[in-house]
Amino acid sequence: MRTSISNFQDEEFDVVIVGAGVNGSSSAQHLAAMGYKVLIVDKGDFATGASSRSSRLLHCGLRYLAPGRSILDFVIHPSRLFTALRMARQAMNSREKFVLSTPERTKCLRLHFPIYLDGPYREWQVRLAFKLLDLMGSPKVPLNFKMLTPAEARDLPLIGKLRDFDRLQSVAAFDEYQFEWPERIALDALSRAEQSGATIRNYTKAELSSVRNDRGWSVQLTDMLEQEPPVTVSTKIVLNMAGIWIDSFNQSGAPHAKRKIFGTKGAHIVIRLPEEFRGLGIATLNSLQLPFYCIPWRDLHYFGPTETSYEDDPECIRVTEDELEFLLCEANRLLPSLDLKRSDIIMTWAGVRPLTYDETVPFGNRSRTVHDLSSEGLPDILAMTAGPIMTHRSAGEEMAAHVKQKLAPRNTTQKVEFSLPNIVNGFDNMPAHLSDVLLRRTGQGWSGPIARADIESCAQELGKQLNWDQAQIADEIRLFEVEWGLLYAPPSNASSARLI
Ligand SMILES: Cc1cc2nc3c(=O)[nH]c(=O)nc-3n(C[C@H](O)[C@H](O)[C@H](O)COP(=O)(O)OP(=O)(O)OC[C@H]3O[C@@H](n4cnc5c(N)ncnc54)[C@H](O)[C@@H]3O)c2cc1C
Repeated sequence: MRTSISNFQDEEFDVVIVGAGVNGSSSAQHLAAMGYKVLIVDKGDFATGASSRSSRLLHCGLRYLAPGRSILDFVIHPSRLFTALRMARQAMNSREKFVLSTPERTKCLRLHFPIYLDGPYREWQVRLAFKLLDLMGSPKVPLNFKMLTPAEARDLPLIGKLRDFDRLQSVAAFDEYQFEWPERIALDALSRAEQSGATIRNYTKAELSSVRNDRGWSVQLTDMLEQEPPVTVSTKIVLNMAGIWIDSFNQSGAPHAKRKIFGTKGAHIVIRLPEEFRGLGIATLNSLQLPFYCIPWRDLHYFGPTETSYEDDPECIRVTEDELEFLLCEANRLLPSLDLKRSDIIMTWAGVRPLTYDETVPFGNRSRTVHDLSSEGLPDILAMTAGPIMTHRSAGEEMAAHVKQKLAPRNTTQKVEFSLPNIVNGFDNMPAHLSDVLLRRTGQGWSGPIARADIESCAQELGKQLNWDQAQIADEIRLFEVEWGLLYAPPSNASSARLI
């Protein structure tokens, strides 16, 4: 049960973590296991930020090995090659660890990378990239890389529909993994953190107070569900894991804090392709030479993402008409004979990547960065930018290592446990709304519109647990429909978004 926020007044923590996306949740899991007294809060439900809006790929690291304009990029800027190799190794490492320890949360896909005679990459470069990835990876989670001739590719479902077969040199086929709904991955980490003694709390907004005394920083907590006065807790260390809201949290207590985030928006469209295409996907470059995917998802496929800078309202991130048109055009450029139409689009979604702000990199820096804000007069506040889902475990480990340098744990250290916690029915981790269960704890909302009967039976069941009367249940169903419409309905259908 949700306890009143007043119970927290003046409580002292070792670490307060702001933001329970995958990276904050993983940090909570590691720190609680190490013996720290941890509080983690999220202003919405857990994992409602970028963690619930990604392309859900546990990338093998191929894209990091793609030089900017040509291979010369790596020759001219050797440091870029080293970063690329480091990130590719990190990706292969995370892939191996995650797939082996948590196979239930991943799905293996067969992806295909077409190499065109007039495209930016040569066949030897792609072979070399896979050779390097193979060397960095483990035979336990193989890439199963195979270079297909155009004749072999033509016989495959989906791949045989690629454009311009006459200019196709070959197709690289490999095994990639996908996260089965990342929100659950954050929730798994939170459950483990809670088992190790952490306090977890959703719908609780944190603001930094400028007060810092011998008990550490004061953080103000506001319950976003109840009309209760805010309370103040103190903490030795603050981990700002608030994704695209990192700057607004820092500036809530320190207006001079420097910008850390550069947000880039990514949109997707979801389409039902013929049944024989299931399980097969394509990784390629779009007409702007940016990564573009056609990814199988349950019995659907999604196309995306886009990449544009985003400075608008962080609370209202939706696919626009222009983005939808662009994605449809790119999907038809990739697979022209499918002649996909607007009416084929079942759902859409968009998110904003919390990349690292860097004056010298126009579209934000993609390498994960930990910022120690001591140099800005904010000692013992750390923030993490640009941490993807695929490396969230090492992100948690890294944050915990930073904390350990500043503060010794008060309790004995336990082993960090990655096997799945026991989940009975998806009503765990404090759902407050029907959408918390349908979207984040069971992932049902990700397969397209949910049948009305299923929505109602879930609402009745949750209503029993949270003591809702029938009027509240009806309100929750309406609220869920609105949230689903805002998150997933194609833009022009949004106002009339209805679930079947
Ligand atoms: C379009 C797109 C495609 C992507 N594709 C992939 C992919 O294929 N593979 C991959 O690994 N990664 C991918 N990513 C990247 C990945 O999704 C993000 O980098 C990652 O989810 C960031 O997690 P996070 O925990 O750092 O931030 P978030 O998930 O954004 O979490 C931050 C949390 O902080 C909370 N918060 C903010 N302010 C406050 C406050 N004041 N008080 C309390 N709580 C607060 C928010 O509510 C939010 O839940 C993609 C991202 C996007 C947008």
